[in-house]
Amino acid sequence: MVHNFNAGPSILPKEVFQAASEAILNYNNMGLSILEIGHRTDAFQAVMDEARSLVKELMQLNDQKEVLFLHGGASTQFFQVPMNLLAADRKAAYLDGGTWGVKAIKDAKLYGTVEVVASSKDKNYSYIPDGYTIPNDAAYFHYTTNNTVEGTQMHSIPETNVPLVADMSSDILSTQMDFNRFSLIYAGAQKNIGAAGVNLVIVDPSILGKADRALPTMMDYREHIKNGSMLNTPPVFAVYVCMLTLRWLKQQGGVAAIQQINEKKAQLLYDTIDQNSIYTAPVAKKDRSRMNAVFTIQDTEVEKEFLTAAKAEGFYGVKGHRSVGGFRISMYNALPYESVVTLTEFMKEFATKKG
Ligand code: PMP
Repeated sequence: MVHNFNAGPSILPKEVFQAASEAILNYNNMGLSILEIGHRTDAFQAVMDEARSLVKELMQLNDQKEVLFLHGGASTQFFQVPMNLLAADRKAAYLDGGTWGVKAIKDAKLYGTVEVVASSKDKNYSYIPDGYTIPNDAAYFHYTTNNTVEGTQMHSIPETNVPLVADMSSDILSTQMDFNRFSLIYAGAQKNIGAAGVNLVIVDPSILGKADRALPTMMDYREHIKNGSMLNTPPVFAVYVCMLTLRWLKQQGGVAAIQQINEKKAQLLYDTIDQNSIYTAPVAKKDRSRMNAVFTIQDTEVEKEFLTAAKAEGFYGVKGHRSVGGFRISMYNALPYESVVTLTEFMKEFATKKG
């Protein structure tokens, strides 16, 4: 028995793997693989339509919002967002909350002025800054809802009249929130949505067309909207896996139901860390991520022992990101509660042995 705590690509539901495997061999009893049918066939159009409409339904998006499945991963959005939204003579406000936000800020500077409204760099990004002001004249305010590397998460939406743009790569669909408050949301699929190779973008078209700049066709959100997210050949298999995962989430009871399980998983893990002094969680309690929990062991030799013992028990992906060290336990939607139970039992036993 193995338990998959990888940060991304990461665990997906077994049912999804089963259905995806069958579709590779014989899609919908057509005698053809999903990999060999044209993307403009009725069979694939149905997949794209269902995936887009499931996103709308699960996130309770209003009719105004457009749902796109695009190439290039979340990192492409670091520049596609400012390319489309930030005129050269305007500024955008960014929150500097972690590794991925830093990359978004770097790319945005290529297109206009960037005002970093707050940063938690002073303490290794171990908390979410607050008490900052978002300038009213900003074209948009960008932040990362969940910092995958550092294990922090924003638990509320900032109050502002400035259009909100969020990188939700590592916590989308994990917690209920008013997704309609955002003018643009993007997320790489390889954590809570499906397979790597596709990127979910949700955009309110009313914010488009304001940055006076010539855009390559593939970079222009308006072209993708006009073409129903089928401007060119989409990553068909990745979109199919997303559709299956979204269907699975709906069967679980949607975001509200999965949120309860996610809260239970995170509570159990953080309680275990807090109750065993061998483990230290560097993140401010109020900002702890429910998706990626980070902890360390002070003695580096014991840390190595933990890693070896964890591997032997079948716990995959527990090593922390190289920039933070220690351990990172990713608990995305598809991770069963039982995996956290098994891991925390192991953690308690290890702590007792070393204590
Ligand atoms: N943003 C966040 C919050 C992420 O966690 C990641 C990747 N793990 C990215 C952006 C980059 O995603 P991609 O590799 O799909 O470009």
